[in-house]
Parts: sequence; structure tokens; C-alpha cells
Amino acid sequence: MEIYLAQPRGFCAGVVRAIEIVERALERYGAPVYVRHEIVHNRHVVETLKSKGAIFVEELSEVPDHAMTVFSAHGVARTVEEEAEARGLPVLDATCPLVAKVHNQGKRYVAKGRTVILIGHAGHPEVDGTIGQVPGPIHIVQSIADVAALTIPVDEPVAYITQTTLSVDDTRDIISALQAKFSDIQGPDTRDICYATQNRQSAVRDLSRLVDVILVVGAANSSNSNRLREIGTEVGVASYLIADGSELNPEWLRGARTVGITAGASAPEVLVDDVIETLRRIGPVSVSVLPGREETIEFRLPAELTAV
Ligand code: SF4
Repeated sequence: MEIYLAQPRGFCAGVVRAIEIVERALERYGAPVYVRHEIVHNRHVVETLKSKGAIFVEELSEVPDHAMTVFSAHGVARTVEEEAEARGLPVLDATCPLVAKVHNQGKRYVAKGRTVILIGHAGHPEVDGTIGQVPGPIHIVQSIADVAALTIPVDEPVAYITQTTLSVDDTRDIISALQAKFSDIQGPDTRDICYATQNRQSAVRDLSRLVDVILVVGAANSSNSNRLREIGTEVGVASYLIADGSELNPEWLRGARTVGITAGASAPEVLVDDVIETLRRIGPVSVSVLPGREETIEFRLPAELTAV
């Protein structure tokens, strides 16, 4: 069986930074370090950090007084920041700078008197964080039907922002529907969809031209991983999202000569290796990496962790 690996795949700069913040905090301040929400949506990453002394909680009320606290890469609402400030908790913010950029854009639109529409998935932590950072009513849409259902007057000044991990194509269609509906609308086109999401989506399209089956390594609650699987399916290749090799069903490979593997932005490469090893146990494999876009972007760590 021939295996093709998408390029780029796996960790993005925001995830690398978030994990490093927890690791450095453990080194510098000692265990335990409390992390609000899964630092990134990957069980393997979370378990590894737990074994080093991180404690994961969903609410700040579960964090003891004075304990070092990390906010996850998805960002948090202003009320969470305020709660931490009121309790005097020492906080390291691992919010991805690209998510923070969307928060700032939303704030700027509200300051200009615009009603903000957020294109994103209701209930995702990034969306909850963005809603809680933008000081004004915010409307969520995740489909063209949602745009049609918006009851905002069509001549009201509006602006849109987007979740960072959406499908570029779906988002473009939703933006077109918004532009067709509202006469005074501003927004960043699809630029809010982060570079890592866009690159991984292009790479999975390239992969889909070569393979019979696509395996996306990533967590079921990872937004960008789900989009990768959807793109594979949309272009007509049987595509499956798996956390690691243990979730691979050999039935999926029946009749397949070529298998493509990619990984969501929060999935470590060891899990890709695990999937390859699982395939190797089924039969002989050859592995090639597709040419793709090189990513060199790096985000700076918070100053508290770099000061000597
Ligand atoms: S997927 Fe994009 S927005 Fe999310 S953490 Fe990675 S770089 Fe940041």
C-alpha cells in the first residue's frame, strides 16, 4: 500500500506556543499548573501535560487561590479574565495571537458602531471566547440559512468576523450571502481563517487527487480536523477522522491501493506515526511526503516565561 502524507499537517504555531507555555510554566513555577479547558483539542497532548503536572479544569472556580493558571489556545471571555483578576490569580494567556486578532477586530467594529456577525460554530470554546470579548450584541451564523434568518435591518451598519478554523470555501459562500443581504457591511474577507487552517485545507485537497482513502488524525472535538475530513468527503474521497491508530478500521481500506494521511493543527506527529505503524501491521507500505507549503511562522511566548 502506498501512503502519502499531506504537507503541511499537524501542529500549527499557535498550538506549539500553547503547549510550550504550559511546559515552561511547569519548569519555572513547579507543578501543579492549572489549565482552563483542554490547552488544545487533543487527548494525547492533554495526557502528556497531565503526566508532567498540569491539572485541567473547565471553570476558574476549580482553581485554588494563588495557583498558576493558563488560558487555553482557544481564548476566553472577558468575564473569565475579570474573574481571574478579581481573585488575583497569576495567569499565563495561551490564547493564539490569531484568535486574539479576531477579538480585536470585533472590538474595533463595535467601537465604530457596527453590529457584529460572527461566522462560526455555536458552542465551540473559541466562539464562546470571541462572543465574550466583543462588547456588544453579536450574532452567530454558521450557514447561508442562518444568514437568511438574521432579523437585523438590512440597512443597519454591520461587520463580520470569523472563527479561525472554518472551511475557507463554506465561509466564502456565507460572506457572499451576508454581502448580498446587507447594504453597509465590512469585514476581512476570509483572512480571519488562520494560515494553518488554510494551508492544511489546501494540502488535503492536493492529497485527495492522489489517494483512495484519507485518514485525518485529530480529535473529534477539533474544529480544524473536522473540516479536513469534510473537505476530503466533499471531493469524493472516503475520509475518516481518527484519534490514533487504534481507531483505524481495516474495512475502510478494502480495495484501496493508496492512503492519504493528514493531521489537524492540534495533533502531534507521534499520532501520525502510530497510524502508519498500524497500517504497516496490515501489510507492506511505502511512505512519501507530498511537496507542500513550508510554514515558518512562530509566535512569541509571554514575557514572564522568557525573562531571565
Ligand atoms: S489553528 Fe490557527 S488560530 Fe488555531 S491555534 Fe493554530 S494558528 Fe492559532
